[in-house]
Amino acid sequence: MTTKTYGIEIETNPDYWDCECDEWYIWSKEVPFCLICGAHQEDQPDSRQDEVEEVLNAKSKLRSRLVAEPQSDLHF
Ligand SMILES: [Zn+2]
Repeated sequence: MTTKTYGIEIETNPDYWDCECDEWYIWSKEVPFCLICGAHQEDQPDSRQDEVEEVLNAKSKLRSRLVAEPQSDLHF
């Protein structure tokens, strides 16, 4: 699905939606509403694909860092 904004086609991800929060506003469609701002999925737009990827990348980076650090302690 694409949404036209400022004449540019923005690719959106149908599996995620945006709430009204300033940060951490991307939610999976499995989450019906945001506990923080109270926005409901059905009233909110789909998330932008590039923003979803950014969040997913940040999460995987965090996970890999958490896994890598204890392993690096094993090298004397
Ligand atoms: Zn929110």
